[in-house]
Amino acid sequence: MAITIKQLVLWLETASQRILQQKSYLTELDQAIGDGDHGINLSRGFQEVTSRIQSTEYDDVGQLFNAVGSTLIQKVGGASGPIYGIAFVKGGAALKGRQEITIAEFSQFLHQGIAAIKSLGKSEEGNKTVLDVWAPVASYLTENGENTDWAKAIDHCWEHAEKTKDLKATKGRASYLGERSIGHLDPGAVSSAYLFEALFQTLAD
Ligand code: ADP
Ligand code: MG
Ligand code: MG
Repeated sequence: MAITIKQLVLWLETASQRILQQKSYLTELDQAIGDGDHGINLSRGFQEVTSRIQSTEYDDVGQLFNAVGSTLIQKVGGASGPIYGIAFVKGGAALKGRQEITIAEFSQFLHQGIAAIKSLGKSEEGNKTVLDVWAPVASYLTENGENTDWAKAIDHCWEHAEKTKDLKATKGRASYLGERSIGHLDPGAVSSAYLFEALFQTLAD
């Protein structure tokens, strides 16, 4: 199965809508263990992404992802903008000139994006961050490839977002709380689950 650029644009528009709908919820999550702006930061960033990608005709996945990433880096003040942004910029670099990509190539994009997040954030899986959803999603897609069941993939990303409740934050603002961060969901892990849920829904349709 090929993932077309049209589907990728639809994914990003759907994700942007979902993040906007969940703006207060994401902000509430960040009020508990951060500074209460995650929903505001990310919905503003994705609104900018939507207006940028809707004003251009893309026939190159690399260019599309570069536009997404650089918009997030430029327009979002908090940690989440550069973190999401670098993943799209660096992860998308290998997809220059491509009008459609395979699931394996999409998995590669995620793995490279994760490497970029790790190097920018000096973080790894288990720190209670976006990585605790991005990494299991990337592994899941790599393992299942063309046989991926999209409904199961959605469950998989939410299960991992839920698991961040049990983790102690050791990176980002939530790490200031130490043990007191345990028992709360990581806002970035939840927004990442919305992002990937939107992708899997788009591919299932
Ligand atoms: P800020 O913390 O600057 O207010 P946001 O509230 O928008 O930014 O985003 C917070 C989210 O960013 C966290 O929930 C976490 O998932 C993610 N995050 C923070 N620091 C890191 C890091 N070093 N590596 C990976 N993700 C991080
Ligand atoms: Mg915040
Ligand atoms: Mg902030």
